[in-house]
Amino acid sequence: MALVTCKLCRKIYNNALFAKKVCPDCARRLDDLYSDVRNYLRDNPRAKFNVEVLSEKLGADVRDLESLVELGYLNRDKIEIDSSSFKQDDDRQKLAKEFEGSIEKMKATVAAMQAQQHKTVSYGQSVYGDKGSRR
Ligand SMILES: [Zn+2]
Repeated sequence: MALVTCKLCRKIYNNALFAKKVCPDCARRLDDLYSDVRNYLRDNPRAKFNVEVLSEKLGADVRDLESLVELGYLNRDKIEIDSSSFKQDDDRQKLAKEFEGSIEKMKATVAAMQAQQHKTVSYGQSVYGDKGSRR
């Protein structure tokens, strides 16, 4: 038995039975969120978005969205986007491409946010290191 702590809700779960980085409850929640995200991206292919925007639009926890990216949810079917809703391959491919671009952007955002979190461990340091955004 491999008991590990869920990184999202801190619950202990059996990693041997459920080989993911989050517990079954969180995985279910992420699955739901994932389809929401996918629907949102499909319905708003031209929308400019990032983790924060998605969090607001979908009423989701930013941490959950970050986990989606981290756990590779958004990678797993960037090519096999639900094709039934598209008449033509062209549409699908175009969307897949945009979807992919969006994911790249999201990854960059997540990476930036994580770097930021790292940086702001010390408040004084973050203020000191802030070069131009303060007015
Ligand atoms: Zn959990």
